[in-house]
Amino acid sequence: MINVTKTFLPPIEEYQQQLSRIWKNEWITNRGELLLELEEQLKHYLNVSSVVCMNNGTIPLQIALKLFGNNGEIITTPFSYVASTSTIVWENCTPVFVDIHPEYLTIDETMIEAAITSKTTAILATHVFGNPCNVEVIEAIATKHNLKVIYDAAHCFGVTFNGNSLFNYGDISTCSFHATKVFHTGEGGALFCNNKNYELQSFYSHNFGHKSATEFYGVGVNGKLSEMQAAMGLTVLPYMPKILEGRKNVVDYYNKNLDFSKLNKMSLRAGTAWNYSYYPVIFKNEATLLKVQKALNAVQIYPRRYFYPSLNTLNYVGKQKMPVSESIAECILCLPLYCNLNTEDIENIISIINKY
Ligand SMILES: *Cc1c(COP(=O)(O)O)cnc(C)c1O
Repeated sequence: MINVTKTFLPPIEEYQQQLSRIWKNEWITNRGELLLELEEQLKHYLNVSSVVCMNNGTIPLQIALKLFGNNGEIITTPFSYVASTSTIVWENCTPVFVDIHPEYLTIDETMIEAAITSKTTAILATHVFGNPCNVEVIEAIATKHNLKVIYDAAHCFGVTFNGNSLFNYGDISTCSFHATKVFHTGEGGALFCNNKNYELQSFYSHNFGHKSATEFYGVGVNGKLSEMQAAMGLTVLPYMPKILEGRKNVVDYYNKNLDFSKLNKMSLRAGTAWNYSYYPVIFKNEATLLKVQKALNAVQIYPRRYFYPSLNTLNYVGKQKMPVSESIAECILCLPLYCNLNTEDIENIISIINKY
């Protein structure tokens, strides 16, 4: 069986070596030695000034919206994983969708200003499949209208834009370390920001608001990453060059051999050093996608419809029409992509797709 992705598992002995430190410390959560070490290593690897590891990639989005949302309207993209919209509603804010760019698949920054009202408090946009939003224009709009910018950068581990970590953009940027992502801790995530005040507030929020054992800065939740998860992160991180190289080989193979006279693909924004996180292809219509999906499923190959449905059609949001996002969502399929997907399997996938 070939799925859209396969979790990278490091040699078990190396994971056990990290676990043995936990047994020695007799300390298994609450920001222990392994977690602190992981945060230090991530800071260096990613070239960012701060990182707060959390228990998944959704909690940092919730924390960011708790900080900036103020029950207001949040301008957001309809083309993302459901977490980016559900978090807005979960935090008692109102999602206001802005359609996407048909080639970059990220929010169409030229339509953001028209969606701003007196109730708008923030922009929450996704760097889709690791492809950066137009961060410069979005920053200018946010500054002009006094809005905060949150980036759902769940797909962006290791991505740089104009030589700078993509996590350095926006007031807060979040990542997921879920098992299906490029770098993982099983479950996990992180919050990045370059503002000391926001960083402190987010940090306290992720640990019940604790200032000391008996004092609190304010309301908080439990967003802590355990030592077992940090152990996985510490074991996987040294393999990143190998993981990225393996993924690049698969991407190059698809790029060279898929028949793009009948297919479209996402355009990467200029200035991006990408992380080969997903391989989306866009069919001419949904009927073709369904035929290809069925043919692949018949030989135990399971691509995924990321992202479908378009989030403006969820039953708990107001029904705004988003023509570009809805039509892309109907026609886009993410092909299997992971570091040791073998050539024979890739060729098989390509030949099935090229037949339609
Ligand atoms: C994976 C993902 C999330 C959620 O991350 P979790 O770690 O699963 O909570 C949020 N947004 C996007 C775009 C994602 O792909």
